[in-house]
Amino acid sequence: MYPYSHEPFTNFAEEKNIQEFKEALAFVQSQLGKHYPVIIGGESITTEEKMVSINPANKEEVIGMVSMANQELAEEAMQAALTAFESWKTWKPEHRANILFRAAAILRHRKHEFSSYLVKEAGKPWKEADADTAEAIDFLEFYARQMLSIKEGIPVQSRFGEFNQYSYIPLGVGIIISPFNFPLAIMAGTTVAAIVTGNTVLLKPANSTPIVAAKFVELMHEAGIPNGVLNFVPGSGSQIGDYLVDHSKTRFVSFTGSREVGCRIYERAAKVNPGQIWLKRVIAEMGGKDTVVVDHDADLDLAAASIVYSAFGYSGQKCSAGSRAVVHQDVYDVVLEKAVALTKTLTLGNPELEDTYMGPVIDERSFKKIMNYIEIGKEEGRLMTGGEGDESKGYFIQPTIFADLDENARLMKEEIFGPVVTFCKAQDFNHMMKIANNTDYGLTGALISNDCENIERAREEFHVGNLYFNRVCTGAIVGYQPFGGFNMSGTDSKAGGPDYLLLHMQAKTTSEML
Ligand code: GLU
Repeated sequence: MYPYSHEPFTNFAEEKNIQEFKEALAFVQSQLGKHYPVIIGGESITTEEKMVSINPANKEEVIGMVSMANQELAEEAMQAALTAFESWKTWKPEHRANILFRAAAILRHRKHEFSSYLVKEAGKPWKEADADTAEAIDFLEFYARQMLSIKEGIPVQSRFGEFNQYSYIPLGVGIIISPFNFPLAIMAGTTVAAIVTGNTVLLKPANSTPIVAAKFVELMHEAGIPNGVLNFVPGSGSQIGDYLVDHSKTRFVSFTGSREVGCRIYERAAKVNPGQIWLKRVIAEMGGKDTVVVDHDADLDLAAASIVYSAFGYSGQKCSAGSRAVVHQDVYDVVLEKAVALTKTLTLGNPELEDTYMGPVIDERSFKKIMNYIEIGKEEGRLMTGGEGDESKGYFIQPTIFADLDENARLMKEEIFGPVVTFCKAQDFNHMMKIANNTDYGLTGALISNDCENIERAREEFHVGNLYFNRVCTGAIVGYQPFGGFNMSGTDSKAGGPDYLLLHMQAKTTSEML
């Protein structure tokens, strides 16, 4: 087997790639409006209640409809997963890994098709959609190899006359609750990490992006996943989310999403319910309030570009998004001016067009929440560019910069999850680190600096799970920059990292006297 390396991004400067992507978009256009069932034990089930997925760039356009699971079906899915677990856990790791390798090959073959669903359903511009699909392929390739590398366990000592072994076994049934912002990569990554390690799962996708998840579940069955291993249960959090998190047979929950929902899941999962014979495990990846810090001696063009692209990629809807710029007072005005100028060149519009840099935000609720933060920003800071929203056709918000915020302002501390970045002036390096760490989160951060001493200091003092120097703070690559943060950013897990799979397993020691 060839060693892992990440899936290359598509070069959209090449005419051939542009044409192929347009063809994929046209194909997906012809697929719109279809219905997708609940999948339990490999069986398709159509229900009365449907979730309607719409294009956030064009509210009139229905991407598709998905049957919703109620509690009864959630229970059936749990039973199917429990039954499937009994055989799936006995599969050889290499056979489980083969299904992931096969799925990666199919997905690579249909790359632009899946990316086109991301353009349509999540409002991702081409490059962002392409990166999302590439990351899904990476998760499949990477976790399959990881499983092969941990299958023998880890060597332990044995004394004379003794034979000791240390190995990993699966946990049981997991509930996967995935987010809208990486509706393919994170959905697929969290699902297959649980599956390849021998667990069976119930996948509840984000309500605004269920179609791409349904397409992926189809693909996994095509790749040979046995019935009941991956059950697809779209539904509302209040109806089935709580029910499944509380279920006495749930062994673990893997959640990516908001801090509010993550904390709720964490609390509920801690309660031991009647009939439950284990303590549930929770893997949670929650929010961020991430900072790009600019030092006095930085390359100022690089600083401005790092701030702008960290803030506005996928309309700021990444928990890694750089929503704060903390800039040394000596270069503050110049960096601000450059960032504003660069932001004014960004194209906002229909993500289906190849030269659109930024598309819409995901839905009305997000639109309202972000616009409300923009109003607060007008009071807390100085609006430099953007600030307008338009929801007549889709949920569009201009890339927005506020300057001169106090380090304790709400916009400096609360996660906005939209295209808004706030500038804050710092006196010196100590002050920069203080502001950067002045948050409940600790996910990503970047330092733009040419001062080696400050780079080394930041390595120690900047308390984030993913710290970048002289680049953007988004775009972690599976297997290269394992991703996940500290404090309220989650349970300190690292997606795409060397120890991620172990979170889905338990270690067993055997000791035999010879
Ligand atoms: N892994 C992504 C990145 O590094 C962010 C994932 C997220 O927003 O949840 O940009």
